Amino acid sequence: MKIGFVGLGNMGAPMAANLAAAGHAVTGYDPVARPDGLRMAASATAAAQGADVVITMLPDGAILRAVAARIHPAMRTGAIHLDCSTVDVQSARAVAQAAGALRLGAMDAPVSGGIGGATQGTLTFMAGGPAETFATLAPLFDTMGSRAILCGAAGAGQAAKLCNNMILGVTMIATCEAFVLGDSLGLDRQALFDVVSTSSGQSWSLTSYCPAPGIGPASPADNGYRPGFAAALMRKDLDLAQQAAAEGGAETPLGAQAADLYRQFVAEGGGGQDFSAVLPWLARRSRT
Ligand code: NAD
Repeated sequence: MKIGFVGLGNMGAPMAANLAAAGHAVTGYDPVARPDGLRMAASATAAAQGADVVITMLPDGAILRAVAARIHPAMRTGAIHLDCSTVDVQSARAVAQAAGALRLGAMDAPVSGGIGGATQGTLTFMAGGPAETFATLAPLFDTMGSRAILCGAAGAGQAAKLCNNMILGVTMIATCEAFVLGDSLGLDRQALFDVVSTSSGQSWSLTSYCPAPGIGPASPADNGYRPGFAAALMRKDLDLAQQAAAEGGAETPLGAQAADLYRQFVAEGGGGQDFSAVLPWLARRSRT
């Protein structure tokens, strides 16, 4: 396929590289990043012209809306705008509607799997949009990832991502709190892991991504809490979940509390650390 790729940061650059390596004709655009070996256009509009699919991988909904307003008029009728950024549900829906008005296809498909998954081509895509658009994009999802799930109409991909990451933020904090409580009770951390990882308190945050160093499988905790998944990105996703909850009138008290705690952690300088570094942060704040 002929692909335009706008937004070539930590995630976009390796995703575009994998598409080019698979034989697609990829033309990229980014105002700052200059990834090696990728054909670059002078503007987002130029990258979009004549493309079958234009992929965007951008920081937030406001930037996505601005970029969409520029690239949509440049795209050929029937071409597809595939947005893989994590943005608010309203922006995803608005961009899909704007594309439809110009007789373009559109799909929101945020990802999980991080920079490692983007580089290795093992991302999971959570997609929102029409089934036939999903089918057309299947070869691209296969190249950039190992799983793609069609979650519903426009915005449903973002909705699924926000729900997943709200659970992730809450379970990570709960897991960290359990280690801090265990410490205060003189409970050995390995013993706590051995019990909880095979009991009803287990979750991915504990068993696959244990926030305590030296325990469980290798995780960012074993690497000085280098991300992994940065706390600043978790804060962003929890804020988006709270924005969606407020708009939809959904009651999510623990999601709100998790958003507050990550906001505080980031404000105190933790944003560049892995999101599991909440464990040493809570431990420092605990009474000794
Ligand atoms: P990033 O900041 O590294 O990359 C974003 C890129 O967009 C930058 O290179 C920037 O120059 C470019 N950009 C900004 N404004 C632009 C504009 N107007 N036109 C064109 N390009 C523009 O961010 P990232 O880590 O690659 O993340 C991208 C998206 O993926 C975000 O929405 C993020 O939440 C999501 N995400 C990131 C991760 C991760 O682990 N990094 C994981 C899952 C999802």
